Amino acid sequence: MARFDQGVIREIHARIDIGTFIGQYVSLKKRGTDLVGLCPFHGEKTPSFHVHPDRGFFKCFGCGVGGDVIAFVQKLENLPFPEAVRVLASKAGVELEAEDPRAARARSEREAIYEANQIAAAYFARMLRSHEGEAARAYCERRGFTAPTIEKFTLGYAPEGWSGLTDELRSSGVDLALAAKAGLVKPSQRGGYYDFYRNRLMVPTYATTGEVIAFGGRALDGSEPKYLNTSTTPVYTKGDHLYALNVARRAAQRDKTLVVVEGYLDCIALHQAGFENAVAALGTAFTEKQASELRKYAEFVYLCFDADAAGSNAATKAIDVASKVIEHTGSSVRIVMLPDGEDPDSFVRGRGPDAFRALLESAKPAVEYKLDQRMAALNAGFESPSALARKAEAIIRELTPREEWDRWRVYVAGRLKVNVDDLRNSRFLANAANFGPRANAAELGSRHAPVHRRPTAGTHLEPFSFEREVLSIVLEDPPLAREYGERIAPQRFRSELYRRAYEAIVAQADGLRATADVLAACAEDEEALEALTSLGARDRSSTVRYGDSEERRAHLDRIVERLQREDDEARYAELSRSIDEMFLAGQPVPRDLLEQFEAAKLKLKK
Ligand SMILES: [Zn+2]
Repeated sequence: MARFDQGVIREIHARIDIGTFIGQYVSLKKRGTDLVGLCPFHGEKTPSFHVHPDRGFFKCFGCGVGGDVIAFVQKLENLPFPEAVRVLASKAGVELEAEDPRAARARSEREAIYEANQIAAAYFARMLRSHEGEAARAYCERRGFTAPTIEKFTLGYAPEGWSGLTDELRSSGVDLALAAKAGLVKPSQRGGYYDFYRNRLMVPTYATTGEVIAFGGRALDGSEPKYLNTSTTPVYTKGDHLYALNVARRAAQRDKTLVVVEGYLDCIALHQAGFENAVAALGTAFTEKQASELRKYAEFVYLCFDADAAGSNAATKAIDVASKVIEHTGSSVRIVMLPDGEDPDSFVRGRGPDAFRALLESAKPAVEYKLDQRMAALNAGFESPSALARKAEAIIRELTPREEWDRWRVYVAGRLKVNVDDLRNSRFLANAANFGPRANAAELGSRHAPVHRRPTAGTHLEPFSFEREVLSIVLEDPPLAREYGERIAPQRFRSELYRRAYEAIVAQADGLRATADVLAACAEDEEALEALTSLGARDRSSTVRYGDSEERRAHLDRIVERLQREDDEARYAELSRSIDEMFLAGQPVPRDLLEQFEAAKLKLKK
């Protein structure tokens, strides 16, 4: 490895302002003499990444990484020290000393591949301008690519023959075995090498540090595959990089936004139309690695899918991957929906940049998009309103954070045309969802023993859920204790502490007017009192508040209903079990037992 003169490193430190430099990658806000932002090296929602411009170093108090500007580049771009120095030296205009021969021999394979790729990119670009490149130029013209665009993205042409690039590389002194490693040429049976890309429009992919790391070649004569891409090489791992991120990251500095499309030609079309923050996923399924790349440069990511792709698993998976890695505000990941039959290129060319901008503006947050998809599926089925509410509530709980449930309930209820309260309260009725149809007699005759849910009371309830609801309602509206003391019996409470509190309250229900009275009723039982007061405190900030007595009553009624239903289910399960046992034992089942069973089943269906 080349060793660098301390002078070079001093010069880099002197010429590069670490605040400005890191500011290109991370959104930083001034705090005192520090600059603070979200750490690019670990996932976080509150900033603990500090840059000290005066002292020339950065430090993350979340994950502990820190160092000077060279360490930052090493870490961010995953580069060894000498390469990070080289990148920074060239940015800062610092001359590196000419390599001595030994250092040249020791030059890394990566360096050599970058160089081979660079030579190839220049060769392809030259071929595009040559007479051989005529068909490729015509193709560019058909796609509407202008000369500045072709230059900006170093588009090129791989000619039809078998040896054009191979000859070029050889005459430039590139070791062809290495060029094969880079995916540029292939070894032939007879011992030589031949060009990997032939008669294709060539699109090089650059690392964010500026090196050519891969190529994509689009067939010009209808041959397969339509897109031929570099697979994994020592400098490129499929799925780790994004096309055009080297350009887009600069644009992303302005509004912290990147737009992800599927194909690199779509991406180029968007750049030409003024959307310089577009990147492409490079012909792979969107990966977590790519998502965290994006997260280094942008706070908001728009995923733009062709209409036909939107319903596909790949799109759904991309949304999940992006949400998982990037989501931090609830709307960091947005889904852009193109109209049927359009791709970004056709859309922006046909309807213009303003139409695409409008499309971006109307993009849905990923959560909303996912909810919509699931709602559409629900709406397509035949569900009773209560089943609809229950399923919708389950989806909300699955897809959104707890703090946002209420907000999404309003949204979803509106879409499904059901009552918001039905969603909120559906968990009390959720038991029915666990309740499959009873196994029929034929199955019972088989050798598999039927599976029973043992009908122990209350096993289906979330721990303590209704107890807390009842107690907080009574705290808020003490006279209700008398009204409901019998219908919701204290014996139903499974939390010993809450049961004691509720027993005491119900025992003195007659004299309860204010919250203070309720607390006084439990005064003798210190533990129960404490449980009750902490419940009150928590509920004031967290759980649902009820507008008036009517609402509270409605809520308690639903709890009563739910408890009744539990009893019914337990009864059903018990009868079911008795009958199954008789079947299995080969005993005749008494007629009245069967009748009771049918009645219990009927009750559950209501
Ligand atoms: Zn960190």
